[in-house]
Amino acid sequence: MEQEKPTIDGPDPAATLAQAAGLAEHLQRIGVQWLPTPDAESTQALATQFRVAGQDTPQPQPEAASRPTSAPATPVTAQPAAAQPAAAQPAAAQPAAAQPAAPATAPSPPGGSPAPGFALQSDSAAANEPYAGPPLAADARAAQLAAFAETVAACTRCEILSKCRTKTVFGEGNVTPRIVFFGEGPGREEDLSGRPFVGKAGQLLTKMIGACKFAREDVYIMNTVKCRPPNNRNPEPTEIENCREYFQAQFQILRPEYIVCLGLVSAQALLQTKLSVGRLRGKFHSYFDSKVLVTYHPSYLLRNPAAKKAAWEDLQLMLRDAGLM
Ligand code: SF4
Repeated sequence: MEQEKPTIDGPDPAATLAQAAGLAEHLQRIGVQWLPTPDAESTQALATQFRVAGQDTPQPQPEAASRPTSAPATPVTAQPAAAQPAAAQPAAAQPAAAQPAAPATAPSPPGGSPAPGFALQSDSAAANEPYAGPPLAADARAAQLAAFAETVAACTRCEILSKCRTKTVFGEGNVTPRIVFFGEGPGREEDLSGRPFVGKAGQLLTKMIGACKFAREDVYIMNTVKCRPPNNRNPEPTEIENCREYFQAQFQILRPEYIVCLGLVSAQALLQTKLSVGRLRGKFHSYFDSKVLVTYHPSYLLRNPAAKKAAWEDLQLMLRDAGLM
């Protein structure tokens, strides 16, 4: 007599499989390298053994399985960047949008060399492609970032900034983050403390992170330039290019699922575009295989509280895509 096969009822099994696939992807992204790869025969055997009601061999949808979420689809707002590059990047500029460029300055200025053993992404990398090489485990990431921070602390690539600064502000937070918040540059409080986003704008950012149900320690926070521009002016294009190698290196180590660009400077620097925040926000872009979201800088939100609603909508877009709401 044939044994009755158990049937899975309750939550949508395809969604459950997609969640599992997403979790596996996330674990691999943060450096857990012992995960077994799926074995087709075993997968089939399991699917047959645990026959799903109305679906003998459940297969996760490729798109849903590619991200660690089974959140309800948000087709208008949560499309991957590849699906709408023209909206954010003029066709001619698109290839450069996610390609880290070589720093404009000499590769090895005094105090400006990358950390020993550290290799930058190649310029030929394209949007949506994985970061180069395997992800590092958390302790290796922390060690590389610490060594790299020391290199940055001695950097003198920008003559004015390196003379004006009190401390470089490298970045801080979870070294295996799902989300990196990417700002413009240090202000007065940050310059004095050596920590990112600790002034009034930082307090608002902390609230924004809290509204996402995270603590600051759960995410990573960093800036485009690591030294405070005098009188809080915007960093000059040459200064951004001087510091490009550093933020590229941080992203390569951290390789987050999401990068939230706070304001125009970081968005234009990362995506290599001239478009405004208004044109860039409300959709995903890509930097390697990180999804990039652009929203308003907390300083701007302090001056224009009416824009907070739009900023929260941007964060909600990410949270839905990440399966967090
Ligand atoms: S802003 Fe960046 S590149 Fe310029 S001096 Fe500071 S660390 Fe060096």
